[in-house]
Amino acid sequence: MSKLQLKTLENQWSSCTKCKELSDYRTNVVFGVGNPNKCKVLIIGEAPGKNEDIKKEPFVGRSGKVLNEFLESINLKREEVYITNTILCRPPQNRDPKKDELKNCRPRLEEQIRILKPKVIITLGNFATKYMLETKEGITKIRGKVYEKLNTKIVPMQHPAVLLYNGNSPKKRAEFQEDFNKVKEIIK
Ligand code: URA
Repeated sequence: MSKLQLKTLENQWSSCTKCKELSDYRTNVVFGVGNPNKCKVLIIGEAPGKNEDIKKEPFVGRSGKVLNEFLESINLKREEVYITNTILCRPPQNRDPKKDELKNCRPRLEEQIRILKPKVIITLGNFATKYMLETKEGITKIRGKVYEKLNTKIVPMQHPAVLLYNGNSPKKRAEFQEDFNKVKEIIK
């Protein structure tokens, strides 16, 4: 059922031109990927990057590898969760999504959440976290806790790219693991 609803939603957004700059620039609308049935975990990143735009799938680059590794650490496969972004189209030069772009894409995100009914939402990185939790507080301050919003739990995490920039720092890895363990607790 939710598979069908999600497909219908994807079709509706596949030719979206609400954001002129983004729709002119993109290769693909990167709607999302994963298991639409009995979705326990929904992951929301910032926006598709170059690889994602080409492959039409979120988190397929190096950050995606880090994400997959941590999902596996709590016995979840990438195919078992659902992954999307705050906006569906790659911004030029990977700039941050603009306010009106977020606003245009918000009904789609809320509808995806309504269809998927996840037990927990992971927001990845500063941008997605501030946006979803409607806070100005940075991710390093707000990570480590579980929040309630949109009828579900939200676990904010740093962006997996942080591990790539920080040379896989043991401190950062431990923080990631701690946050993923929180997700494990919620869905068990
Ligand atoms: N970073 C994101 O925030 N989203 C992606 O899909 C890929 C990298």
